[in-house]
Amino acid sequence: MSEYRIHGETGAWEVVIGLEVHAQITSNAKLFSGAATAFGAEPNTQVSLVDAAMPGMLPVPNVECIRQAVRTGLAIDAQINAWSRFDRKNYFYADLPQGYQISQLYHPLVGEGALTIDADAKAGIAEDKRIGIERIHVEQDAGKLMHDQHPTMSFVDLNRSGVALMEIVSRPDMRSPAEAGAYLRKLRAILRYVGSCDGNMEEGSMRADVNVSVRKVGEELGTRTETKNVNSVRFVMQAIEYEAKRQVALIEAGGKVDQETRLFNPDSGTTRTMRSKEDAHDYRYFPDPDLLPLELSEDFIAECRASLPELPDAKRARYIALDISAYNAQVLTAEVESARWFDALLDVGAEGKGAANWVTSELFGALNRLGLSIDQSPVSPGAAAELLGLVADGTISGSIAKQVFEKMLESGDGAAAIVEREGLKQESDTGAIEVAVDAILAANADKVAEYQGGKAALFGFFVGQVMKAMQGKANPKLVNDALKARLG
Ligand code: ADP
Ligand code: MG
Repeated sequence: MSEYRIHGETGAWEVVIGLEVHAQITSNAKLFSGAATAFGAEPNTQVSLVDAAMPGMLPVPNVECIRQAVRTGLAIDAQINAWSRFDRKNYFYADLPQGYQISQLYHPLVGEGALTIDADAKAGIAEDKRIGIERIHVEQDAGKLMHDQHPTMSFVDLNRSGVALMEIVSRPDMRSPAEAGAYLRKLRAILRYVGSCDGNMEEGSMRADVNVSVRKVGEELGTRTETKNVNSVRFVMQAIEYEAKRQVALIEAGGKVDQETRLFNPDSGTTRTMRSKEDAHDYRYFPDPDLLPLELSEDFIAECRASLPELPDAKRARYIALDISAYNAQVLTAEVESARWFDALLDVGAEGKGAANWVTSELFGALNRLGLSIDQSPVSPGAAAELLGLVADGTISGSIAKQVFEKMLESGDGAAAIVEREGLKQESDTGAIEVAVDAILAANADKVAEYQGGKAALFGFFVGQVMKAMQGKANPKLVNDALKARLG
C-alpha cells in the first residue's frame, strides 16, 4: 500500500497532521458550578452566578469531571499527573463573561499517552499504527453567540459557559486524511466505552482543531495552520486534504505558509484565514488564584482504573480468540452499544463465531431495514440465543432460522414457540429423506445420467430439489449423505 502523498510540480509532499480534540465531559453539572448541562435547553436557563462571572463568585471543582478525565487518561495508557493546576487564559470575547477561560497550560491533569488506529486496507492504512497523545487537560467551555435571532442584534447564551471539556492533544503523528479519520473514530469509541463523553459530534460534544503542515519526505516539519472547531470526521478529512493541497501550491509558487488560525466551510469543503495564530504568551496565562492545585491520591487513581470497562482493542482481541473473524470483531466492537449487546448474547450461552455471523448479517440487516438502533432491537439477546440454540442443536436449519427470525420480529414470540406452532422442525428422519431423494432422482433421470457422466456440479441441483420438496426442513447433512449414497 503506497503512502498518502500530494503530488506537486516539484515532486511528492508528505502531509503531517496533529489533532486537538475538545470533548465535553459527561456530567450533570458544570466544571466549577452546580448548573445543569443538558443539551438543547432554552437559552440562559442553565447558568449559575459562577458561570455568569458575577463579582465575588468562586469556582469549586466538580470531582466527577476530574474523575472522568482521569479515567480517559488511563484508557489511553497515559501518565496521570497526581499534581496538576488550573491556569487562566485571558482574552476578551462577548461569550466569555469572566474575561478568561480556566484551563491547564503548565501542569495538565493527564500527560503522555497513545492510542492504536486499526489497519484498513481500503483506506490505505497498511497496518495498525500507534498515534501519540501529548496530553489531556481540563478546561471550561465558553458561551455561545446567537446572530440569527434579530436583524440588528446579537444575543449571548451562557448555557455552555463553564461546561467541562477535555482537550485531547495528539502528537503530529498522522500522515493522511484517512489516518486522521481513523484516529477520531477510535478516540470517539474509547470515550464512549469509558463513558466520559457521549461523542456526539452533531451536538458539539466533540470537535477538532486540525493542525496541518506539508514537507518533502525526510525534511524538517513545515509550518502548520490550525483549522478550528471542525465537527465531523468527514469534514476533518476534507479540511486536511484542502489545506495540504493549498499549502503545496502556495510553497511551490514561491510563497510561504503563515502559522495562522483558519476556518472550515462545510458547504465548499474549503478553509479560509480567521486570524494570525496567537502564541501562549499572548494569553497572559497565570495560575488561577481562586483554585488550589489538584492533588490526587493513589487510591483515587486506583479507583478510576478499577472502574474502567473492557476497551475496544481488548474486546476485539477476545472476540478473535473466540474464532470470530477479524472483520466481524471490528464491526462488533466499533460501537459500544453493539459490543454490549453482543457480550450479553455471549453471556446467555451463544457460541461466538456463529453468533457473530448472525448478528452482523441477520440482526444488523433487520435493524437497518427497520431504522432501529441496536438498543431498540425488538429481539433481545436472550431471544436471539434461543433461536441460535435451535440451529446449533439441529432442530432447525439455517434457512428456516431466517424465516423464524422474521416471525420473531413480526410477532415478538419466542423462536421455539414459532417453530412448534408452524411445524418448522428440521426433518432428521433418514427414512423420509431417502424417500424424497429417490423421488427427485427418479423425476430427473436425464440429470442423473449427466452427473454420472462427470458433471459433478449437478450435485447442488439435487440437494436444492430435495430441500424444496421437503419445504426447506430437511437436515442438509442427511440430504447430502443420502444423495451421495444413492449416486455412488
Ligand atoms: P498550540 O497549543 O499553540 O496549538 P501545540 O504545540 O500544543 O500548539 O500543538 C498543537 C497541535 O499541533 C498538536 O496536536 C500538535 O501535534 C500539532 N502540531 C505541532 N506541530 C505541527 C506541524 N508542524 N504540523 C502539523 N501539526 C503540528
Ligand atoms: Mg491549539
